[in-house]
Formats: sequence, structure tokens, C-alpha cells
Amino acid sequence: ESVIVAIDGPSGTGKSSTSKAVAAKLGLSYLDTGAQYRAITWWMIGNGVDVHDADAVADAAGKPVIVSGTDPSRPTITVDGVDASGPIRTEAVTSKVSAVSAVPEVRALITELQRTIAREAEHGIVVEGRDIGTTVLPDADLKVFLTASPEARAARRSGELKGADVRATQEALVKRDAADSSRKTSPLAKAGDAVEVDTTELTLDQVIECVVTLVEE
Ligand code: C5P
Repeated sequence: ESVIVAIDGPSGTGKSSTSKAVAAKLGLSYLDTGAQYRAITWWMIGNGVDVHDADAVADAAGKPVIVSGTDPSRPTITVDGVDASGPIRTEAVTSKVSAVSAVPEVRALITELQRTIAREAEHGIVVEGRDIGTTVLPDADLKVFLTASPEARAARRSGELKGADVRATQEALVKRDAADSSRKTSPLAKAGDAVEVDTTELTLDQVIECVVTLVEE
């Protein structure tokens, strides 16, 4: 029997680490939808598309071929056959991804891709993002919405970025969440039937345990 788990929330809540670990523990596939939006953004930058020109982004949206590998122990992403896992994490991409992901044509294409991947996952899948429970997979078996205080999120992010300034990280993070939450098409939002887990005071292992228990219930 195949199980579909949607994990949404802002950045720095431990979404990726949690989703990968839960998928690995339960033998499920894993999809990082943020990586897909990052990949299309990376392609736009590399191909000279002005990311603040919504019409230009919409016109180009169908051009790159984005392929996600769904093994939780080794997630991969390619754009036109080229490994994009490194470049999609750069500041250049992070600072522009909200503009690209706000374009409805981009969302329509990526959402379709996500639904196909979820449908084809043999034993089920953990899908992490911002709009999975509300828009992409409204019939998911379990929806989790992860939160954490802005301070905790910034501290985790700067830890990941090794020595980055916590305050600058927090400002950039708050700005990106505000953009993601205020866009017109499928903003970052908690589904009505999602279970909210505040991770501020929890270790990663505790969050993983909590979600595994919710899946098994
Ligand atoms: O999760 P991550 O921080 O890698 O996501 C990068 C960006 O991709 C988000 O800031 C958001 O703009 C976009 N995104 C989205 N919908 C999703 C996942 C990510 O719009 N389901």
C-alpha cells in the first residue's frame, strides 16, 4: 500500500532533513520541490532571462527539462541532463527563486511534474515544499506543517552555510518567506487538515520520530 506524505513550512524548520530521514526510515521515495524551483531559476539566470520580468519567465518556463531523482539517501536533480545540485544552493539562485516561483506558468508546470512523480512512486513518497498539502497533493494521507521561531530558523541556516552572519541570514530568510507567503498563486500556507509541529525546542531526531509516528498512526 502506497502512502503519500506532504511536508510544508518555511525554510530553516528542518523540512529537508526531516523529510529525507522519514522517507528513508519508511522505505518511501522523496521529492524536494524547492530544488525544482531552484533548478528552473538557475536555468533562467544562465540563459539570460530577467527573473523580474514575469512574461519572459512565463515564456521560457517550458524550455528546461528538470529531472529529480527520488532516492532519499541520494537525491539528485538535473537540468537538461546536467547535474544542478551544487549551483542551485548558491546565493545567486536563493535570492531570485521567490520571483521565479511566483510566476503562475512556472507553478503550473512544476506542479504537474510533482504530481506525476508522486503518482509513479511505487511504495509512496514524502514530498516537501510550501504548497504540497494545499495545492499539489490535497489528498495526501498525512500533511505536516513545520514551524520554528525566526531565530531558530536563522541559526540553523547559518550553521548550514558555515559561519554566515546570523542576522543577515535571518533578514534574507524573513524576506523570502514574506514573498513566498504573499504571492497570489499557491502561497506558502498550512492546509486546514495539516498537523502543525513547532520544531523550535526539538532536536532533528525528535522531529523525525514525531513525523514517523504520525505516518504510522
Ligand atoms: O525549500 P527551498 O528553500 O529550497 O525552496 C526554495 C524556494 O522555492 C522557496 O523560497 C519558494 O520560493 C519556492 N518553492 C515554492 N513552492 C514549493 C517549494 C519551494 O514556491 N512547493
